[in-house]
Amino acid sequence: MNNRIEEIYNRIKKNSTSFLGYPLAKDFDYSEFAPFLNVCINNIGDPESASTLSIDTKDIEREVVSFFADMLSSNIEDVWGYVTNGGTEGNLYGLYMARESFRNGIVYYSEATHYSVKKNLHLLNIDNIVVRSQDNGEIDYSDLETLLSYNRNKPAIFFLNIGTTMTEAIDDLDKIKDIIQKYAIKDYYIHCDAAFLGCTAPFTEPKPKFDFSENVDSISISGHKFIGGPIPCGVVLTQRKHRNRIVNSVSYVGTLDTTITGSRNGLTPLFLWSFIQKYGKEGLAKRVKNAQELAAYTSKKLQEIGVNVMRNNGTITVVFDKPSVALCKKHQLASQDKIAHIICVPGIEKCQIDEFIEDYKKELVLELAYA
Ligand SMILES: *Cc1c(COP(=O)(O)O)cnc(C)c1O
Repeated sequence: MNNRIEEIYNRIKKNSTSFLGYPLAKDFDYSEFAPFLNVCINNIGDPESASTLSIDTKDIEREVVSFFADMLSSNIEDVWGYVTNGGTEGNLYGLYMARESFRNGIVYYSEATHYSVKKNLHLLNIDNIVVRSQDNGEIDYSDLETLLSYNRNKPAIFFLNIGTTMTEAIDDLDKIKDIIQKYAIKDYYIHCDAAFLGCTAPFTEPKPKFDFSENVDSISISGHKFIGGPIPCGVVLTQRKHRNRIVNSVSYVGTLDTTITGSRNGLTPLFLWSFIQKYGKEGLAKRVKNAQELAAYTSKKLQEIGVNVMRNNGTITVVFDKPSVALCKKHQLASQDKIAHIICVPGIEKCQIDEFIEDYKKELVLELAYA
């Protein structure tokens, strides 16, 4: 490696071991795929349709999609999907399917929704309304009801959070369905943003309702978050009828143009596939349990030093009073207004939590001394 590149590598290596505030698992090793860096790989177009350019990993990609479909209570006869560049692309795709279903629909989403959604809505030029959220990050159902009642003659597109970025809050599908019934909304579409929780929620008790057994229309999940990996990726799944609505043009490479980008990453499906081989559903469940235990430990330790903690039921995100800017920087905590969080993803060690608690404790003692 030349000096400049080595410096960059060392910086990333050092910083990636120390962060506590981001939902990125870091316990992976994909070095067996290194030889793939010396070949052209391209999963251009629809994963189910072969291209005349056959340098793809689409067979592996289809197995990945099938695993996710199964995890989300469906199968590849009923749902279709592909490996995306991340949660944002999956959300864009879900909203695209929604718009193609209902050209005059209105998107409802809470103010705790990920920042990328506003931009996606802007790109797609769909009418949309921001709904208030509750203190825990969950959508405010009465505000939703009021807003919906003004627009009951228009199709409703619900953009639901299955784990908000800041507090891991889940919008309650049963309550949304009650509202749909109450106002006799005939035309509606439900998209679930499960960027972070898509791989954990199926294994938590009680299991949050958000998958295809609940008849949702599409789901987006990030691959580089709870699963982890060196390249951002994700999976989007949608009811097959939605994908079939847009599948028409055949591009010059002989495949179907159903995906957002043409050329697509063929390396990330390999990473997801190898994770699935290694862990399967049982391994994922165990991973979730370990993460929950670390989150419970973190909450307890923070409370012991007198810090206010908020943790939504069973989550692996621990929200608490924001410490100093210096401490947020040192431990790479994400913060918003007066709160910060630690996300107990696989790869974070107990000793890192202990080190942070020690630092925070010192800071609190100093604060008291100067008060
Ligand atoms: C991370 C995240 C996203 C965006 O996903 P990317 O993979 O970063 O594109 C969207 N929604 C939620 C809730 C997220 O946590």
